[in-house]
Amino acid sequence: MKFLLVPYPDPVSGHPTKYVRDSIPEIKSYPGGATTPTPKAISFKPGELLGDETGAFGIKSWLESLGHQVVVTTDKEGPNSVFEKELVDADVVLSQPFYPAYMTAQRFAIAKKLKLCVTVGIGSDHYDLDAANEHAVTVAEVSYSNSRSVAEHIVMTALILVRNFVASHEVAKAGGWNIADCAERSYDLEGMHFGTIAAGRIGLDVLRKLKPFDLHLHYYDKHRLTPKLEEELGLIYHASVDEMLPFLDVLNISCPLHPETQGMVNAKFIAKCKRGVFIVNTARGGLCDENAVAEACKTGQIGGYGGDVWYPQPAPKDHPWRTMPYNAMVPHISGTSLSAQARYCAGTREILEDFLEGRPYRKEYLIAHKGRLAGAGAYAYTTRQ
Ligand code: NAP
Repeated sequence: MKFLLVPYPDPVSGHPTKYVRDSIPEIKSYPGGATTPTPKAISFKPGELLGDETGAFGIKSWLESLGHQVVVTTDKEGPNSVFEKELVDADVVLSQPFYPAYMTAQRFAIAKKLKLCVTVGIGSDHYDLDAANEHAVTVAEVSYSNSRSVAEHIVMTALILVRNFVASHEVAKAGGWNIADCAERSYDLEGMHFGTIAAGRIGLDVLRKLKPFDLHLHYYDKHRLTPKLEEELGLIYHASVDEMLPFLDVLNISCPLHPETQGMVNAKFIAKCKRGVFIVNTARGGLCDENAVAEACKTGQIGGYGGDVWYPQPAPKDHPWRTMPYNAMVPHISGTSLSAQARYCAGTREILEDFLEGRPYRKEYLIAHKGRLAGAGAYAYTTRQ
């Protein structure tokens, strides 16, 4: 069989031969009791860089040892790309949301042998799910593998924005000492109203992590959490996003991108927020109208915007979020720490072992299967039809 892998390019200084740390903690289960991936074996050392071209998700040598053809490319855009040329007879496509191989309906149509698309990580919106269903291609992702990594990044970004870290760091780097320049936009998170759109694996973990900061914690999700959990974390539930927005000093977005949520954060949405709201988005860039966000950062309606997700990816050099004021943007990295890579590459191996040996996939890994949304996908995604 032919496996088409689209990792991100190697570091500019080359694939690392040495790492900052000699090992990473071993994590065996997630909150709620689900186990971390359980492949029969792995062919990499946890803590190594696996998401780049040389790392090749830690599966290349294993697949080749089984006699399969493995094509690894970072050239993914347009009809003349290596990806599109190799796609025509590929059986399996694998790519990470950080550097997505966009599988449009047109690309599904030319991939006549395609059976499986794996999201090496979480978030399968770069695969057109309607088209996947039309062609009965299975879409699977490694649910939970990097959810807690992203939750850590959200807490960090909320603090960075509220405390005015980025501008203060620039002052220090430039040799300055004007405390007032740093302090004039700096606040404490304590006592603020924090709200999350979606309390799934990431959103709920953020609420848990923020509980000791003594905030007011709000949430909206399509499915309400249990009364026990709401009480334990002191959560304020809202029946709609519109109802929640006027309360918030800090808004977090952790819902998937699908037809229902595309472009949700537009000028009308932003106008419903308190002046100076801080917004953290590590979910997907396509959830926002990028120009409306940039404009509101300029006028002060948004006090600061941070996260790691853009559209498209890689983001163009002139993307307004690179230069808009009070931004704490980074490339799409929150879910690809070396710790997260070890889990999602082990989960990818587990999915491929199940595929090759004809076993059912873990239900929580499925997004689309046998022509319809399935598993985690049936719960959190919608399609156009
Ligand atoms: P999850 O456990 O499936 O949670 C997603 C939650 O979003 C579910 O609770 C779902 O509600 C809710 N939801 C769906 N549509 C909604 C809507 N219209 N309004 C409000 N809530 C809605 O997924 P997760 O692990 O938390 O990940 C969430 C998203 O984060 C992913 O889809 C991906 O886009 C993004 N992500 C980013 C990175 C990164 O590196 N930046 C890494 C991983 C994931 P119900 O299930 O109750 O219907």
